[in-house]
Amino acid sequence: MSLLRTESEERKALIEVSSYDVTLDFTLGDELFGSRTELAFDCRTPGASTFVELIPHDVTSIVLNGTVIGQSAVRDGRLWLDGLQEHNVLVVEASMAYVHDGEGMQHTVDPEDGRTYLYASPSSSSAGRIYACFEQPDLKAPYRVRVKAPEDWRVIANGAGTDTRDGLHSFAETKPIATYFFTVCAGPFAVQTGEHDGISLGIYARATLAERLREQADEIFTVTGQGFDYYHRVYGIRYPWGKYDQVFVPEFNMGAMENPGCVTFRDEFIFPGRASRAEHLLRAVVVVHEMAHMWFGDLVTMQWWDDLWLNESFAEFLAQQCTAEATEFTEAWVDFSATRKNWGYAADRAPSTHPIAGSPAPDARAALENLDGITYPKGASALRQLAAYLGEDTFLAGVRNYLRAHEFGNATLHDFLQSMSAASGLDLDDWSRGWLLTAGTDVLAARVDGDTVTIERTTPADRPAQRPHVTDVAAFGGGIELGRADVRIDADRTRVHGLDLGASPKLLVPNATDRTWAIGALDEAAQRSIPDELPAISDPTVRGVVWSALLNGLALGTVDPATALDVFDAAWPHEEVEPLLEAVAMFASLFMPGRYFSPARTPSALERIARTGRTVLELEGISDSRRLTAARLVARTSADVSLLRGWAAGRDLPEFLVGDDQFRWSVIGRLASLGEVDDDEIDSWQEKDPSVSGVLRAIAARTRIPTEAAKAAAWARLTSSDRPNSHELSAVAANFFGHSDQQFTRPYVERFFEELPQLSGTLGDMLLHLLTREGFPVSVVEQRTVELAERALAGELPAGVRRSFVDGTSSLREHLRSQERFG
Ligand SMILES: [Zn+2]
Repeated sequence: MSLLRTESEERKALIEVSSYDVTLDFTLGDELFGSRTELAFDCRTPGASTFVELIPHDVTSIVLNGTVIGQSAVRDGRLWLDGLQEHNVLVVEASMAYVHDGEGMQHTVDPEDGRTYLYASPSSSSAGRIYACFEQPDLKAPYRVRVKAPEDWRVIANGAGTDTRDGLHSFAETKPIATYFFTVCAGPFAVQTGEHDGISLGIYARATLAERLREQADEIFTVTGQGFDYYHRVYGIRYPWGKYDQVFVPEFNMGAMENPGCVTFRDEFIFPGRASRAEHLLRAVVVVHEMAHMWFGDLVTMQWWDDLWLNESFAEFLAQQCTAEATEFTEAWVDFSATRKNWGYAADRAPSTHPIAGSPAPDARAALENLDGITYPKGASALRQLAAYLGEDTFLAGVRNYLRAHEFGNATLHDFLQSMSAASGLDLDDWSRGWLLTAGTDVLAARVDGDTVTIERTTPADRPAQRPHVTDVAAFGGGIELGRADVRIDADRTRVHGLDLGASPKLLVPNATDRTWAIGALDEAAQRSIPDELPAISDPTVRGVVWSALLNGLALGTVDPATALDVFDAAWPHEEVEPLLEAVAMFASLFMPGRYFSPARTPSALERIARTGRTVLELEGISDSRRLTAARLVARTSADVSLLRGWAAGRDLPEFLVGDDQFRWSVIGRLASLGEVDDDEIDSWQEKDPSVSGVLRAIAARTRIPTEAAKAAAWARLTSSDRPNSHELSAVAANFFGHSDQQFTRPYVERFFEELPQLSGTLGDMLLHLLTREGFPVSVVEQRTVELAERALAGELPAGVRRSFVDGTSSLREHLRSQERFG
């Protein structure tokens, strides 16, 4: 069972952990591994009882202070310990089962060469599947780790490797770390090594990615070195964990995980083919995000899971800042506006929204439910706003105080705000009540009356709050910036000073530098002006802010999708900032057809989007990355079968895409949706690309084939595999409900709501949450889908599934409302 907060508090009061000595044996076959834990801890009340988390396959022996304990002491994932002494040593030997859903000791076989990879991913409540421990974030301890592994494997852990003899790998003792940061990665990994400022660096990926790793390692090392320099400067504390390894592992549920000294990443970040600049930027952001955690999260850890948001919001904020200031990706904040913030605004519109802070997290499982668009981009935006409110130097001084005061320990939001108050001399109670403890997004509208500009702030009526905004407003006419002025909004109406409008402006953009979390209102006049104004505005941040306002208007049913498509046609071909180019292309091709546009209007919308994509493809003198984004857009939207057939065969392609398997799979995926390829043809393409990504892309393509038989086979794969592979299931879920195959998928809408929740127990909660989110039938925009979702929501559901259904239904309602209003 998941640890209750109250239990963690009692245990923290009773126990102090001195050290873990963990030995794992990976030579016992494909099902089980050996685990021996020697745990030294003190008890403040001798004679008392407690428990450690332990979820074994089979217990070999349990010895507490020299006395053997019977196996009956292990119940419901806990090993109960009685009669504790002041100083205790517990030794547990057990065999443990590998997992395949990413929560525990993950076991993956690479389909390309049949070799095995392992990594430990304890999450918030699965450490007991790996070793015996007091699994809570505020019982930190140093670890000594030994691993027995096949002779030809590499083994990487939090501590540096010190010795390898006869397949037994020993690692240096770590500084105190929390249980959820423990990791070991093992397998025949390929490696690239480097060094920066005295810190030894390693980058690992599975053997079949060795060539790609070799090509891409330099870029990752460069960003890593830039990250270290940046963080050493802003934190003022030297990197505390010795060496720094980055291990790109297969079948990872998350983007990455900040284990001290041994970060794990999903291995799609070692790009299998041509990648766009936006993808390189995202990888850089993720690399420096995990680095930000080495201090904020790892060195100082939240006391309990209710403050997990602070780790994530902070790392997200500082990672954007670091990427923009210290790496070649100076446009990182534009990307943040265009991708991350729109995710967050959608989350803040949904009924599942919640305040950034203060979610009670009654147990350890509940901690993971809110790793969402509120915790990441909204929390990061609130911290960015706090930095603007206090001044950046003061903010960073507060961060340094906080880290120094709590290093190698734990802290709470209260501690963080106290450090900020101490640094600034300001009382932040009101600020945090409005920003951190109340959900909802303010709308900012700029009104002109003669020479006077006023900003009107509207706060959601059902969530009253007083949120101050430190931001600005800019005026545009013919795309020329006529003026811009800073404004500090402390009331519902704030007069703007110092904005000289000059000629009459066509478009006023509140929050033009996007420093705050708020949506700009778009009245009809503004909407009419955007197709002319947007392409001519030279500041990409402003373009991103205007796009956000448009997308929000679409969701609220105040902007006609036809208007958005006009803006796309007018502005997109001129967009030179690639993350914005890519974000808008993704939105246009994935969200507009079949969702905002009704099935009747979808084919013509797709045709227009594809045509616009082709215009960019034909432009002279643009970067390969921009051309790649355009080619992908065409591959996702075009119904021109002869063009797509040619591309699949490598004809008439931009030179740099010839032979690129990934791009070819995009084309085949589209041909599959159009019913132009069958299983046999997909088989033959897969023979040409037997890599892991080839396997996944082939599954995706098969799932898209619009026939009864293909959908039945895909459904069976999703719901009844005996050894589920998370990424394969995800490929099925994400491609099952298309926008032109409803005659075959409609019968599965009901089954989706009935059968997927029943996989709970067979699949881990985190994976099931992902599958129900990715697979939700958002493209079957019908009242019946809403009704079926509501029927499911009226019954019992696992928490992650409930969340997916609530959010999916909310998107569906937005699409339905738009279709009802605009046809
Ligand atoms: Zn993070």
